[in-house]
Amino acid sequence: MPARPAPKVFTKFREVQEELGKSGAAIFRDAAGVESLIIDSPYSIRYIHSYAEDTPFFLGLAQGKLMGSKCTGCGFVYATPRGHCMECGEPTNWLELPKEGRVHSWTTCQFGSEAFLKDTPYNLCLVEFEGAGSLLLARLKDCVQDDIWVGMPVVAKFDPKPKYSITDVWFVPKK
Ligand SMILES: [Zn+2]
Repeated sequence: MPARPAPKVFTKFREVQEELGKSGAAIFRDAAGVESLIIDSPYSIRYIHSYAEDTPFFLGLAQGKLMGSKCTGCGFVYATPRGHCMECGEPTNWLELPKEGRVHSWTTCQFGSEAFLKDTPYNLCLVEFEGAGSLLLARLKDCVQDDIWVGMPVVAKFDPKPKYSITDVWFVPKK
């Protein structure tokens, strides 16, 4: 039996990912020269998950709507699903949020889970909306790191083929 060839060495993680698809193994050498053997071990699971009372949020994304929640007691508006108010404990009602907001904060992710691997590195932002007291975390697309600034106006985009996932919505800079 022929000896298995030694894995190739890369210094960029993106190149490691490409090599894993070809040969199943690669070595990543970091800035300090430390080498890590990385292997490709695909696995698949079936995961059944209930959104329960958050269901209207995900159905809303599929219809191009951002659904937040408004407290029936103190009136606090959350930019996310929330059954009860964190301020006063009263139940909330659903409320449609604006499709435009501003970047409150953001980061660039150099590593990602399986769903984001092909887009890595990618940008995440916390969006603030007029009239809402909390923030929504989502991806920020159609811009590079140097283009992003705190306070930047952004617009929601919705997946035309919704998967009933938080990835059904993302934001882009407002033109
Ligand atoms: Zn409240």
